[in-house]
Amino acid sequence: MNARPKKSFGQHFLHDRRYIDRIVSAIAPRAEDFVVEIGPGEGALTLPLLAVAGRLTAIELDTDLIPGLQARAATTGELHIIHADVLKVDFSALAHSHGVPRLRIAGNLPYYISSPILFHCVEHAAAIADMHFMLQKEVVERMAAEPGSKVYGRLSVMLQLACRVEPLFDVPPEAFRPPPKVESAVVRLLPLPAHELHDAPPEHLHAVVKAAFGQRRKTLANALRQLLDADAIRRADVDPKARAETLAPADFVRLAKIYGNP
Ligand code: SAM
Repeated sequence: MNARPKKSFGQHFLHDRRYIDRIVSAIAPRAEDFVVEIGPGEGALTLPLLAVAGRLTAIELDTDLIPGLQARAATTGELHIIHADVLKVDFSALAHSHGVPRLRIAGNLPYYISSPILFHCVEHAAAIADMHFMLQKEVVERMAAEPGSKVYGRLSVMLQLACRVEPLFDVPPEAFRPPPKVESAVVRLLPLPAHELHDAPPEHLHAVVKAAFGQRRKTLANALRQLLDADAIRRADVDPKARAETLAPADFVRLAKIYGNP
């Protein structure tokens, strides 16, 4: 216990029991669930989750933390630790290899790669039942932002097209050791059912959303110049003079379809 937290791994260990309990209650694991924790650290969430779920798979990059975690979990339940970078873990294959339709994923995420982790999870959304993540509060605000908001952007569009985003509660820096410099918040992500999913090719959607928000002060006609001309934008039922931040996620889907099928 109480190893020196490593900044390079984004280690801020949760120690405030009240927030640990609130997170575990929000997840409400059941014995039949296949729970995967990203970044278990010293086990602040792992042990209480394990106590309820009985078994848990945790993905941890820092080798030094693994023996302690294994020792602490030994009497609590069946803990399987995958020593890996979470970005390299294929969640769909993980679910498949364990014969479960969908995983429940949770974690107090390392903030330095929180957006890549979110995009990685979105790629595997069909194999995920739900996600509960601790993130920087500012990131949760961007994820849940609506069109017209200053913080509405690529993260909002890409996440909202794949999941329902439910911000749950804020967590102050003092709840962690060492305290991060920012406020944190817990968010729940519920992957959308297949019939609510869009049918634009993901690579086209990524290209259009990235270009549109890459120059968010410009009109779409300007920002998307390399991908779509004004007529094509109009054919998607979008005003070429509008700016990306005013478009609903569904508008980007129509733009991506025209981009793929001019
Ligand atoms: N869950 C613990 C807690 O709440 O106290 C630790 C949270 S700490 C913010 C983030 C954890 O993610 C650390 O244990 C860190 O070593 C781990 N981590 C960092 N980068 C990772 C990566 N790429 N893949 C998997 N785990 C990672």
